[in-house]
Amino acid sequence: MAKTAIITGSGRGIGAAIAKRLAKDGYDIVINEVSQEALDSYGAKTAEEIRALGVRCECIAADVSNYEQCDAMVKKVKELFGTIDALVNNAGITRDGLLLRMPEENYDDVIRINQKSVFNMTKLVGAVMLRQKSGRIVNLASVAGLYGNPGQMNYSASKGAVIAMTKTAAKELGSRGITVNAVAPGFIKTPMTDKLTDEQRSAMLAQIAMKRYGEPEEVASVVAFLCSDDASYVTGQTIEISGGLSM
Ligand code: NAP
Repeated sequence: MAKTAIITGSGRGIGAAIAKRLAKDGYDIVINEVSQEALDSYGAKTAEEIRALGVRCECIAADVSNYEQCDAMVKKVKELFGTIDALVNNAGITRDGLLLRMPEENYDDVIRINQKSVFNMTKLVGAVMLRQKSGRIVNLASVAGLYGNPGQMNYSASKGAVIAMTKTAAKELGSRGITVNAVAPGFIKTPMTDKLTDEQRSAMLAQIAMKRYGEPEEVASVVAFLCSDDASYVTGQTIEISGGLSM
């Protein structure tokens, strides 16, 4: 039977690159976006490219910070595909600003979308994987969650939590053949980093050993490894993908 992967927030950016790469590796794919409008405006095109690779691909709108919507999505995937073999918790947002100027709602929104979503989806998909006695879960953390970053009190808190949640889930699910790992990208060219100022970009570039930004496909290849049989004895780990931003 074909394997199925859910990638959250995968209409564009890193999520879309991961979805395409896992499709090339033979996974049937579930593309998720927060709304039907997002799916119509860019998710549908990604889904078309994936179907052209010869695998099945379905698009499901769900806000991953909302437990009921996640529950409905997971039930639908089970109904449509029968199994869930890989979950990539990719959906995320930034609401940057210096701590003393950060509105409370910008803190709460980032924690809800980047962190609570990982609880929702890992709990629901973890239950399916426990019954299957197999599965791969990969969480998108960030270098901000490892080292902190000025202007990102909310984002670095959410990504630091994702790293801790990765280790806890790995310890709880490991005995049933489920691996849980995280990747921590540095600066990757996507709509998320398009929002940064030229000053922020050059400051980042100066610290990168490889003196270039990363491509979404370079994150996707590490995620694909963690979702493959080759990574069968790797769990609870966080792999940095930053071109040597910090060593
Ligand atoms: P992106 O281009 O903004 O893509 C994120 C996707 O998640 C968007 O399609 C977004 O939809 C979706 N999303 C947001 N809230 C959602 C929700 N509640 N439910 C479902 N989907 C939702 O960002 P990216 O750069 O590809 O980032 C992907 C992941 O990598 C994120 O977790 C990010 O924190 C992490 N990361 C990125 C970088 C980087 O340099 N780009 C570095 C480190 C870590 P809308 O656009 O419609 O809101």
